[in-house]
Amino acid sequence: NTPLHELDPDVAAAVDAELLRQQSTLEMIASENFAPVAVMEAQGSVLTNKYAEGYPGRRYYGGCEHVDVAEQIAIDRVKDLFGAEYANVQPHSGASANQAALFAIAQPGDTILGLDLAHGGHLTHGMRLNFSGKQFNVVAYHVDEAGLVDMAEVERLAKEHRPKVIIAGWSAYPRQLDFAEFRRIADEVEAKLWVDMAHFAGLVAAGLHPNPVEYADVVTSTTHKTLGGPRGGIILAKKEFAKKLNSSVFPGFQGGPLEHVIAAKAVSFKVAASEDFKERQQRTLDGARILAERLVQDDVTAHGVSVLSGGTDVHLVLVDLRNSELDGQQAEDRLHEVGITVNRNAVPNDPRPPMVTSGLRIGTPALATRGFDTEDFTEVADIIAETLKPGFDGEKAEALKARVTALADKHPLYPGLK
Ligand code: PLP
Repeated sequence: NTPLHELDPDVAAAVDAELLRQQSTLEMIASENFAPVAVMEAQGSVLTNKYAEGYPGRRYYGGCEHVDVAEQIAIDRVKDLFGAEYANVQPHSGASANQAALFAIAQPGDTILGLDLAHGGHLTHGMRLNFSGKQFNVVAYHVDEAGLVDMAEVERLAKEHRPKVIIAGWSAYPRQLDFAEFRRIADEVEAKLWVDMAHFAGLVAAGLHPNPVEYADVVTSTTHKTLGGPRGGIILAKKEFAKKLNSSVFPGFQGGPLEHVIAAKAVSFKVAASEDFKERQQRTLDGARILAERLVQDDVTAHGVSVLSGGTDVHLVLVDLRNSELDGQQAEDRLHEVGITVNRNAVPNDPRPPMVTSGLRIGTPALATRGFDTEDFTEVADIIAETLKPGFDGEKAEALKARVTALADKHPLYPGLK
């Protein structure tokens, strides 16, 4: 029972340093969040010791009576949360959920139609080096000049290539998708519709974004982005896909489920059904809108900075630096210097190489979880705008960093943790 700090001071030091980093800087990576202490408690529990291949009530190991309870709670809660007929809470991650889902509704060699990675799609939606790109025949759709998914192109490609699966979902896109239109096109070409709501699941749970479960055959998600739970994946679907999806997850791709993570997912689904969560998601949206508004003001756009699609309906903003002297890497580094963490991101038709890019993806979920309100997000937006303007030097960086520290101090993170 030796505590971590005594048993392994080297690893403990890395954990401590990471806690301090999270507490003292502003986390604005759009796919990140801060899990509640109760979620981390479940995730750090004795459930990590248990093998439980199979599903609740039908396991290949003895002694599963308690993990069965936790997993069934997770299943019931997530079905209720999203109004789904079927749920699988075992996928170890979003990518695992996507792999299991795709192999349940298509065969290797089949054609799939998804959003191009360079236009905001995810690796698992058909990227060349990913399993999806290697084992399926991929056709990609794109965003148009205005930065919106080109539904006319989706329809044209669907009719031309007759894909088995149409994928609606994104990792870097600032608007809502038209699920009804995706459904209509899928029906027309007799394709399955798979929605990957990994990014916006929290907004859906709060009723602040259309619910893809009403339209799609299969919906996958992560549990750790806007949803704010432990790192992991889930699959939701219509009942008719239950058997195929269950056997695709186990024994198709996974062995023993991570029951400690599943218990933590259950806790996060309880949190996600609360009024507090809804209020937090509203602040997440308000923060992103404020950020977009302040980054399209004249004194910012004068320096070649703009925002893709002109704004946002979700939890993130995509900053377009194609006309700026500053590239994505430099902008990310500058923000890091003042204590704001974001990631550089390629924009559609990016002239700069993928490791440099001409964009930034900036998200508000983690700061909303910290308690940031519209006034705080306005200050964050102004700090970001100042950081991206010309004339950034050591003195200016220090002044901006002090403003970041003031915001971090105003909203302490994990005050009880050391
Ligand atoms: N799907 C989408 C849309 C994502 O953005 C991501 C992660 O960024 C994933 C799936 C994969 O999730 P994970 O990193 O948990 O495998």
